[in-house]
Amino acid sequence: MAFDNAAFKRHFPLFEHAENTRLVYLDNAATTQRPSCVIEALTDFYSRYNANTHRSSHRLARAATAMVERVRQATAEFVNASDRDEIIFTRGATEALNLLAQSLARTLEPGDQVLLSAAEHHANLVPWQMAAEQFGLELCFLPDHNGEPQLERLPEFLNGRLRVVALSAASNALGFRIPVERVKNLLPECCRLVVDASQILAHQRVDVQAMGCDFLVGSAHKFYGPTGVGLLYGRREALSALPPWQGGGEMIRQVRLQSSDYAEAPHRFEAGTSALAAIAGLGAALEFLEGQDRKAMATYESHLNRYLHTELEALCLKRPLQLLTRFENNVGIAALVPSPQCKLAASDIADWLDEHDIAVRVGHHCAQPLMESLGQSGSLRISLAAYNNREDVDRLLQALSVMPLDEDVESAAPSTVEGWVGDDLSALSLQELSSQSSWQKRYRQLTRWATQLSRKPAIRVPEHQVHGCESEVWLVHRVEADRHRFAIDTDSRVIQGLSILVLLLIDNRTRRDIEALDLEATFAELGLEKYLSPSRSNGFRALLDQALALVRASSRD
Ligand code: PMP
Repeated sequence: MAFDNAAFKRHFPLFEHAENTRLVYLDNAATTQRPSCVIEALTDFYSRYNANTHRSSHRLARAATAMVERVRQATAEFVNASDRDEIIFTRGATEALNLLAQSLARTLEPGDQVLLSAAEHHANLVPWQMAAEQFGLELCFLPDHNGEPQLERLPEFLNGRLRVVALSAASNALGFRIPVERVKNLLPECCRLVVDASQILAHQRVDVQAMGCDFLVGSAHKFYGPTGVGLLYGRREALSALPPWQGGGEMIRQVRLQSSDYAEAPHRFEAGTSALAAIAGLGAALEFLEGQDRKAMATYESHLNRYLHTELEALCLKRPLQLLTRFENNVGIAALVPSPQCKLAASDIADWLDEHDIAVRVGHHCAQPLMESLGQSGSLRISLAAYNNREDVDRLLQALSVMPLDEDVESAAPSTVEGWVGDDLSALSLQELSSQSSWQKRYRQLTRWATQLSRKPAIRVPEHQVHGCESEVWLVHRVEADRHRFAIDTDSRVIQGLSILVLLLIDNRTRRDIEALDLEATFAELGLEKYLSPSRSNGFRALLDQALALVRASSRD
């Protein structure tokens, strides 16, 4: 039977909310929306049987305990584990990977090797780096081709010290699937295979036994469940060989003053009180997914993904954009970057889409090494779920095709890194911005101002880069006759506008004048914190903080 997208979408109340009827949500790789049954399961837990599990003998505690164990069973069936005790509830994939890195590392010897790929989400990289540092392990990386790990090169790493291979089944940044089921047969008995399934659980059936993995992790919020709960599958023998990671209540058999004996899995790995309502929500999400024809759903998603990629490829021939992803073997993620001649940064494009109520994500997507290997600092990521449809893709394409990309940017004044020339903003005033009657108008004013910021290639050096800004921004400063002078450069249209604001506030003033400014009051008046996206607002703060730090550090006035 064909998948009924309209009926599926009706399960998600967010899309019916008055604020969201025009929303096109294409940020599903970050988190999916929740169906009403999941939202109801959370309320139901709190309003009907909220109690802590295991530790009490009353009726509510028994109901809560039974629910958790029922969901454990359902989770085991969801990934085809052979036993529910092979399922551990964590806070999410990140916590599950930290648990594995810390627990597995305790079973290894210094010099043992862990093999990863450069395409991993930071959650499957940083915990291993930490464990490697603590336990003297060596991290190795599969070679890649255009960012995709080359599994066929894995035998080159079988040198007797390889103990763990940890790979994601699909890249969260570029969407390509990695055939992890081919790995286990290549590995010796003593080597554990960890699969990060975060990006596949919403899109395909997962069978841990067919995959042959020892461990598998995922986060419920990426497959229509709540935040705050994730799953860790561990093959029974692999789990029973693992020491616990976190200590606390419920994970013990007996506690003495100097030492303790630990409970069996799964409880050995679930110290403290779990996110019980979230587990109830996970149960509802699993039931919801089981109620779908997963095969038809996957076919539907695949057709939509093909349409998205085909149309984006055609668009890239007409607009200065470049598509980094391919449709083949992809879970539903497209990544775009502005081509070199494009005058907008990816973040400006995302802002443009946001203005059209189209939600995408921009940045390095917690996959910095992958982005760097492609020579990119980030991308604009479009990620699909089964409630998306062709209309959503068409709205995206339409917005991208009318986006004003070609406005002239004033040409750069020639300068060197020391002899930089700042921008002459004497024709602009803060008044222009504050007199606008709405935030939308102020935002437009900022983007109009953006063109007044000239390009200054000479100052684009690492020592002048502003840290903490999602977009690349460079800031230079000097003192001229007691006045603090600044110049800023960035490719992001919105940050260019915000840079003008910074300059209007503090450029060409004395330290005393700058210190007398009530910047918080000015921001509150402009509504900056309220309306800018958190990443923009953090970037703006980082820029301003760095400028103020330069003023403080300067001893010339
Ligand atoms: N791995 C992958 C591949 C992911 O996409 C994500 C989330 N973006 C994570 C791990 C971490 O998931 P969480 O933040 O839910 O712990």
